[in-house]
Amino acid sequence: MFTVNAIAAPSATEPLVRTTIERRDLGPRDVLIEIRYAGICHSDIHTVRGDWGSVPYPLTVGHEIVGRITEVGADVTRHAVGDRAGVGCMVNSCRECENCRIGNEQYCLKGNTQTYAGVDRDGTVTQGGYSTHVVVDEDFVLRVPESIPYEAAAPMLCAGITTYSPLAHWNAGPGKKVAVVGLGGLGHMAVKIAAAMGAEVTVLSQTLGKKDDGLRFGAEHYYATKDPATFEALKNSFDLIINTVSAPIDMASYLGLLRLDGTLVSVGAPPEPLPVPVFALFGNRRSFAGSSIGSIAETQEMLDFCAERGIAPEVEVIGAEAVNDAYERVLASDVRYRFVIDIDTLR
Ligand code: NAP
Ligand code: ZN
Ligand code: ZN
Repeated sequence: MFTVNAIAAPSATEPLVRTTIERRDLGPRDVLIEIRYAGICHSDIHTVRGDWGSVPYPLTVGHEIVGRITEVGADVTRHAVGDRAGVGCMVNSCRECENCRIGNEQYCLKGNTQTYAGVDRDGTVTQGGYSTHVVVDEDFVLRVPESIPYEAAAPMLCAGITTYSPLAHWNAGPGKKVAVVGLGGLGHMAVKIAAAMGAEVTVLSQTLGKKDDGLRFGAEHYYATKDPATFEALKNSFDLIINTVSAPIDMASYLGLLRLDGTLVSVGAPPEPLPVPVFALFGNRRSFAGSSIGSIAETQEMLDFCAERGIAPEVEVIGAEAVNDAYERVLASDVRYRFVIDIDTLR
């Protein structure tokens, strides 16, 4: 074990503080990553505040990690010292269940090992990316193309893949009308990726305050969900709706926006249930679905897709001392469009 600098939540109610955490010694199939940037995902906030249930404290979160590989274990073949590497929301899985065997390890039937607040193979609690170094099994490490701006690469490891995966699965592309609900970290990546896939994209945001940005990211239309006229104007319109909202939404209103055989996919993860009136599903034979991150192979595909097309998140880089303020701004929907911690400020 070795000790590294980190930021941790002491409890669900206290601010995050600077501290140190332990990392395991490098195993034969592990790589050591010197972390350079870590994104702040709304899931980090849900987790440390206990929104989704109790977690072990002190806890270091962060699952949008990018840095350089500085050491590799003896049996590592996929990565080399000096490579730019990324780590997302999971760091292992059982590798044997039917979902793992077909390359859907994010849906591991035994539960994938989450990057933080999970149980690692040595029985310890996993600790996330708000820290200077991390040790990860090489199979769960991504190659991050050098053409992606360094600080912008981090949020792709969660916000990027979590939106790419359902857009790809539900065939966003030419001729498809896609709506993105919520223009935050996930939402702005959903807009950029769906537009790059060739879909006609509409943003559904609480207000029109970020309209210019939404259109710049590739949306063709932009509506305010606080205006009830929006739900009249857009009735029966969309093939696919990606809901990224971190709080409950009125399902009947949003389902009513789907055209025949349309699907509303929730990637937003409010702690409360989202009640679905079945009659809203009967009309137009609509579907309501969920989606969780993406596989490692699909994450690599997303990174390469974005690198080829010059797509990257819009980020605000902050120092370690600004993380608690950033949390408050995310909670107030005042994020443009992802906070990224400069990990050099932790060294
Ligand atoms: P975020 O940056 O805070 O974006 C969420 C956006 O939702 C806000 O910017 C805001 O957009 C809108 N919003 C927030 N509160 C709202 C409310 N009360 N009513 C209506 N709209 C509201 O969060 P994020 O990091 O993108 O994460 C979004 C959600 O996805 C979180 O719940 C997170 O835990 C979850 N998540 C899920 C997965 C997965 O695998 N399924 C992965 C990552 C994250 P506007 O200002 O445009 O309205
Ligand atoms: Zn996340
Ligand atoms: Zn499995």
